[in-house]
Amino acid sequence: MKNINLLDLPREYKYMKKGIDAALKQCLVHHNWILGLQVKALEERIAGYLGSKYCLGVASGTDALVISLRALAIKLKKKEYFTSSDKIITTPFTFTATGEAILGSGATPVFIDIDPVTYNIDTGKIRKFLETSKAIGIIPVHLFGNPCNMPEILNIAEEYGLFVIEDTAQAFGGKWQDKKLGSMGQAGAFSFFPSKNLGGFGDGGMIATNDENISELAGILRQHGGKNKCDARYIGYNSRLDTVQAAVLLEKIKYVEEFNCRRRKIAQIYNENFIDNPDLVIPQSDKKDCYHVYNQYTLRVLNGKRDLLQQKLKQAGVVTAIYYPVPLHKMQVFNGRCVIPKNLLETEKAIGEVLSLPIEPLLAEKEVLKISKALKKAL
Ligand SMILES: *Cc1c(COP(=O)(O)O)cnc(C)c1O
Repeated sequence: MKNINLLDLPREYKYMKKGIDAALKQCLVHHNWILGLQVKALEERIAGYLGSKYCLGVASGTDALVISLRALAIKLKKKEYFTSSDKIITTPFTFTATGEAILGSGATPVFIDIDPVTYNIDTGKIRKFLETSKAIGIIPVHLFGNPCNMPEILNIAEEYGLFVIEDTAQAFGGKWQDKKLGSMGQAGAFSFFPSKNLGGFGDGGMIATNDENISELAGILRQHGGKNKCDARYIGYNSRLDTVQAAVLLEKIKYVEEFNCRRRKIAQIYNENFIDNPDLVIPQSDKKDCYHVYNQYTLRVLNGKRDLLQQKLKQAGVVTAIYYPVPLHKMQVFNGRCVIPKNLLETEKAIGEVLSLPIEPLLAEKEVLKISKALKKAL
């Protein structure tokens, strides 16, 4: 079998080539590279899609998190940065950027263990932590495209007076019931890194918010901390979404619902093939009406069989990945800079068992069945 990768971006480009080529050509006509018309159009398009009042294009998903946090520090504390006594609750089972952004805003991450069923932060354990300790905010991560229990997280936040920033980097188009992920907290942070559900041709990100104040502050911070070049008020960033990326994304967003449906269909085929296997645990959502958008299709492989299975699949031409082999609290940068209120046993168990399979939306059913067969054979 020809190698099957996790994604096949060249195949996706061919599928959308006409529109993308025309969009890029238009950029070559107007040469309006910085915050051009397409950026504004994409911001409006995504704000409408999410049902959020404001959207701001920034240079990456990481910057979307950092700038949202800094805007909140200015809004809530009248300070440019948080301080290390300001604790922000998140999960250790995520991409480095989630924790990195908290440190970058001056605050201290509190790593709370995951729920072993959804791999998302365990809301019961958030409550336990808050019974005896203080925090200022929560950053739930909709990991692999699977919605966190937002109603419960928002309840906790209201009870304890915390802000919520949704890390929606992996979940563009995902929903909790009828609410779009990234539209429910004080801010939602999105990434357009090429492997995300809405990916560009390079780095990019977006902040979504209903808060006029946060929107205004984020707009200032993304442009050197001032309303204009001669009026710098805060330590800012050069963090704008490129016009070229916005042009590509305006084309690609036309396909995002179709592609999310295709991802869900692939997941369904995998699930049907693996559900009865005693060595495998298929991915699960919190509730039936969660709209999981499968940025990754991640299985749990039991009985110590994961690494050998991955090797055998590689030999059979199926590329897989381990997201994540190292939890954040085991990385040097967080050493002495994070709070670990309790053991993180579920996280540590998961890192030894998870395996992500190819989830290219344009995979044919035939190919998905081939992968399923290869996996069962390798087990
Ligand atoms: C990709 C990702 C980010 C960061 O996005 P970039 O655009 O790569 O900076 C943040 N959080 C999570 C969970 C991610 O997967």
